[in-house]
Amino acid sequence: MAIQRPKGTQDLLPGTIEQWQYLEETIRNVCRDFGYEEIRTPMFEATELFQRGVGQTTDIVKKEMYTFLDKGDRSMTLRPEGTASVCRAYVENKLYGQPLPVKLYYVGPMFRYERPQSGRFRQFHQFGVEVLGADQPLVDAEVINLVWNLYQRLGLVGLEVHLNSVGCPKCRATHREQLQKFLATRKAELCNDCQERFERNPLRILDCKNPHCQAVTGGAPTTLDTLCPDCSTHFEKVLSLLAGAGVAYRVNPRLVRGLDYYTKTAFEVMVEEIGAQSAICGGGRYDGLVEEIEGPATPGIGFAMGLERVLAALQVQGKFNKKQPKQFAMLIALGDKAQNRGFSLMSALRARGIPISMDLLGRSLKAQLKAANREGAEFALILGEEELERGVFLLRDLTSGDQVEIPLDKAIEVVSMKHQRGV
Ligand code: ATP
Ligand code: MG
Repeated sequence: MAIQRPKGTQDLLPGTIEQWQYLEETIRNVCRDFGYEEIRTPMFEATELFQRGVGQTTDIVKKEMYTFLDKGDRSMTLRPEGTASVCRAYVENKLYGQPLPVKLYYVGPMFRYERPQSGRFRQFHQFGVEVLGADQPLVDAEVINLVWNLYQRLGLVGLEVHLNSVGCPKCRATHREQLQKFLATRKAELCNDCQERFERNPLRILDCKNPHCQAVTGGAPTTLDTLCPDCSTHFEKVLSLLAGAGVAYRVNPRLVRGLDYYTKTAFEVMVEEIGAQSAICGGGRYDGLVEEIEGPATPGIGFAMGLERVLAALQVQGKFNKKQPKQFAMLIALGDKAQNRGFSLMSALRARGIPISMDLLGRSLKAQLKAANREGAEFALILGEEELERGVFLLRDLTSGDQVEIPLDKAIEVVSMKHQRGV
């Protein structure tokens, strides 16, 4: 059998790649308008970065990492997420020496060894934002507002931001105690994963997808019940800023993000229509992470958005129904000499930034005209032996069918004018 792509990966082909390009372009526009700059970090990193940065008890680190030994016997991991890498780069390149906060974004593939299903891949793409060096609730609101603004520009509807505060290490300790007390007598009813979480990271039991565990934790104390005054004021301020910005949010006290490093604000954006994997974006504040990877104490907040899921939502909501014209003009040259002259004319037009292409298969006039229509071209420049001898070519408007004869030495001028009028 012919070689196939690895399970859980995709070939993004012409026809849908335009949707990706449109989404990425919109993302870059929003980031530019909000004053965020792009960062590109390596696709693989020392395994330890994710073990420390994402956290030993997370599903990502425990089950999902693509880890391998390189030829120098170093343990490397294909990045499963972007935040740890961005923080590593922040520390390594001493970005904290710049005026704060540092506002960064990234777009690119991530890798997780998961069971592939609809909306869940082994290589998928994330757009993410990280703001480092600012602890004000204003930043939390700005970052969530950026997500919201992107969805508005894309025309997505029916989205809801789920918000919670998971507190700081101080109030988290109180919560941990109360939660363990609540669960102590019911520990045996929890799934194996949660029994393990009981000591290491009981908060994550609230996030377990197992229905038994959800039933057991139904009335459990939430982090909102135990917020310290500082975390509580912070959360209230975020909520009031978001309300003022018109962001549709819902406080969900059971929302716990999958990563270990979150503090205070945690959020997720859900869209019902794309099925079981309805989370299109997740994020939160991580005031302890930079220190965890041996950088200077630095507050941080960010999110990551799954682009496959955003595209699925755009498709379900019918945002991609318009067919885009592909090409402005086609050059149709018939015969060897016309081909030479045509090629040189096409090159001159391309040098002026005019979109034009020509038949590469030596086909008949009829076949070339058909191809021009298929490409959605607006004009055909037709050049046969007879026209060449008279120093002219035919400019055919493919929408109206009108055709005019134009001197070859006026070609650039006339075609440029047509193109300018179109744009
Ligand atoms: P999930 O609960 O769906 O596994 P997660 O908590 O693991 O999500 P994050 O690590 O927060 O996800 O990643 C942020 C976003 O990236 C998710 O909201 C989702 O849109 C997307 N995402 C995560 N894992 C995958 C995957 N395997 N395939 C496609 N998209 C993904
Ligand atoms: Mg996951």
